[in-house]
Amino acid sequence: MKYISTRKQEETNIKTAILKGLADDGGLFMPEYIPQLDAEFFENLPNLSLQEIGFRVAKEFLGESISDENLKEIIDEVLNFEIPAVKISDNIYALELFHGPTMAFKDVGARFMARMMAYFSEGKPMKVIAATSGDTGSAVASGFFNVFGIEVYILYPKGKVSPLQEKQLTTWGGNIKALEIDGTFDDCQTLAKQILSDEELNQKFTLTSANSINIARLIPQSFYYFWAFAQLQNLGKPIVFSVPSGNFGNLTAGLFAKKMGLPIQQFIASTNANDVVPKFLESGHYEAKLSKQTISNAMDVGNPSNFERMKSLFNNDVSEFRKEIEAYSFSDDETKKAMIKVKKDFGYTLDPHGAVAYLGLETFRKSFDSAPDDKNALLDKDFIGVLLETAHPAKFVEVVENVLKEKIEIPEKLEAFRKKEKRSVEFAVDFELVKEFLME
Ligand SMILES: *Cc1c(COP(=O)(O)O)cnc(C)c1O
Repeated sequence: MKYISTRKQEETNIKTAILKGLADDGGLFMPEYIPQLDAEFFENLPNLSLQEIGFRVAKEFLGESISDENLKEIIDEVLNFEIPAVKISDNIYALELFHGPTMAFKDVGARFMARMMAYFSEGKPMKVIAATSGDTGSAVASGFFNVFGIEVYILYPKGKVSPLQEKQLTTWGGNIKALEIDGTFDDCQTLAKQILSDEELNQKFTLTSANSINIARLIPQSFYYFWAFAQLQNLGKPIVFSVPSGNFGNLTAGLFAKKMGLPIQQFIASTNANDVVPKFLESGHYEAKLSKQTISNAMDVGNPSNFERMKSLFNNDVSEFRKEIEAYSFSDDETKKAMIKVKKDFGYTLDPHGAVAYLGLETFRKSFDSAPDDKNALLDKDFIGVLLETAHPAKFVEVVENVLKEKIEIPEKLEAFRKKEKRSVEFAVDFELVKEFLME
């Protein structure tokens, strides 16, 4: 399988695509075609484990670049936690993606990327650079923790991440170094770019970035769409996924799964006030915006990086987009009301991101009432709605307790971070000082 940049100027293999992250032409790597899984796989799906599904799907994308034995080992390590489809009501399920070490769905992608990078770097010492505004950094740190031969440098803005987030970035030790930058997230990103393009550093080390555009983060995110079917298809109804979206990696991975043959009836792209994609589907024009701050802050993205991948999947044709995806945007007020309603009616605690996904499902269901007959003929109204619950509510404890007016339990896994001691190295926004530190 070849990997081709979305801007078409670069073609390479999976190893280089993963080690580089971004193509030289500025595009994102895509497989040259989406592989198909055979009928036998789908018939047997309910009998497969999450790890077996992960192996089969990953194998299609990785081909001969890795032995079956090594790939199995990696998949078993990556997927060592549950991803249950939990019933909220008769026709709504939450696919809980938050049972990994940092309790957000980014664990899945980051753990896989870390192990694939270690495998393909063949023991050569490597430095991974990650600028973070909070959540991604901890998933990356956790994914790479104790991975042999790799040192990770996390750059985060001093005083601009939540106390719990900071603990999740700074308490690892070992091969994870936290650089506390006296500046903004943008300063951290600029410093990361300067590091990655510095000649002297590049001569001395293999440098790479661990940002969300890496194809190795996308591939494993398609596994759990199959796994949701394995758990729910015996209900005998069509399945609709609502994906709380920011950079649209999660949704793009779902599109991969459907193209591989998974009979998903419909995708719903649910966003907060950052509504570039819903607006695009409405008008046909894509217009990036500055991001707006919301209570579902992991989705505060004004120019989603994976839009470029979706465009290439749909051959740049907006009517193709519209066939697969309904997109809705919701305000913080609506999000809070949804959290309260779901708690009251069903006893389920949603985090703010999952609540946005819930609103997407409800809006889609209501849209049948006023839809023209041709839509009702095309789609089955009696469907199972699956919302992707991307983070544990305790990760957003301040917001959730404030909205629900009750205390929520902090899981042991998060509590453990709080008890550990912060270790970071402070820097002014000064590339030369940061460079000196890396050169040591
Ligand atoms: C990153 C993130 C999202 C958005 O996922 P994308 O793949 O960027 O669309 C949603 N929810 C949570 C909790 C996240 O951390």
